Amino acid sequence: MSSSTEEPSYEQRVIGSVLGAMCGDALGASVEGWTPERMSSAFPDGLRTFQETERGYGCYTDDSQMLLALAASLVNRRCCDAADAAQQYVRAFDPRRGYGGSAVKILTRMAEGADPSTTATQFLPGGSFANGGAMRIAPVGLAYRNAEPAVLQQAVQAALMCTHTHPLGVEGALAQALAVAELSRMQFPTPAAAAGDAAAARAGALALLRTLQSKLPGSEEMAGKLQLLQEALQLAPADSPASSSWQQYLQSPGWQHELATAAAVAPGFQIKATDAVAAALWAVARHWGSPADALTAAVHYGGDTDTIACMAGAMMGALHGTAWLPQQWLSNLENGTKPPRNNHGQHKTFFDQAAAEALLAAGADCRTPVAADAPAAADDHAAAAGGSEVVLTTRDMGRDAAVQLARLLAQLDCRTG
Ligand SMILES: [Mg+2]
Repeated sequence: MSSSTEEPSYEQRVIGSVLGAMCGDALGASVEGWTPERMSSAFPDGLRTFQETERGYGCYTDDSQMLLALAASLVNRRCCDAADAAQQYVRAFDPRRGYGGSAVKILTRMAEGADPSTTATQFLPGGSFANGGAMRIAPVGLAYRNAEPAVLQQAVQAALMCTHTHPLGVEGALAQALAVAELSRMQFPTPAAAAGDAAAARAGALALLRTLQSKLPGSEEMAGKLQLLQEALQLAPADSPASSSWQQYLQSPGWQHELATAAAVAPGFQIKATDAVAAALWAVARHWGSPADALTAAVHYGGDTDTIACMAGAMMGALHGTAWLPQQWLSNLENGTKPPRNNHGQHKTFFDQAAAEALLAAGADCRTPVAADAPAAADDHAAAAGGSEVVLTTRDMGRDAAVQLARLLAQLDCRTG
């Protein structure tokens, strides 16, 4: 499927990034942990529609839940505030979303009152290098798209403080944030690239990979992977699902090359953040003008399918906006009416649009920290404390509320830490 050739507005790119992440997450959720061989065997035409999962059809997982929580924190604070982000993760926490074991422990500990500046190393000495920071970081890339790389890095570290402090966890998340930032500012793929011109698409993807390499100079591991991806892209066979069909593509030398490259930069389950981001970048680079195909490719790499497709979706939306999102995904994406099981009926959307807009209109770059007694009820409605403090919460917000949140996120242009 090709995208529209119409240039998307920046707001459309932000909405596309958020929805792309949620759709990738929901697409990959049903096949997490599968091998590429099992994927091709079960889905010889490519996995292109949501499948039933234990959470329900079209339901997203912890990746989107935390991404939306971080977006809400950015909107609340107008900057990346480590303590507020941690508080939002706690408010949004629902173990039925499929959080990893360490995340469950940390979020539980923080809900019990632990200081979020101490939790990242409580269960893993040195902190986690897993992909749970990178999977949620896209909103920081969008909000700080015009910031200096050092400022972006500070914001990424703030967003990760409570869970991921290992240098490789930060490195992967920074690469994901920077990719989303760059893509949101890049020229939309030329009509030729969007229409399937392989050379035009390759030029766009190479430009992104080179830019990332130049802006991540201290990141040896990521730099090596970016170099490998550039070389692989230049050698990639011309086959593509956009020019034939997924059934043909999965049998082609092009797919064999694509899969081998994905395995080279991100072997196995891609649990390392740097591996996971490299895999997502590869899907994006290889299917530059055909975003939905990038997400299908990402899940066919196997492994941590929901996370890789979530990250690829966040990137593709930042470049292409929303026009590429298949109607089958948009109309079936969880929308506050298909809650996870056993949620005791609490599936309203916790969002106060008028209050949120008032907050944004108030202006300051970075608001003062939330008072200790600010509203913190996990399932509470957006609330006001002292008549001015607005706290958006995002638990199980679903598609339409996520679009509202993305519109607010699009108003941010953070330049300082
Ligand atoms: Mg997940």
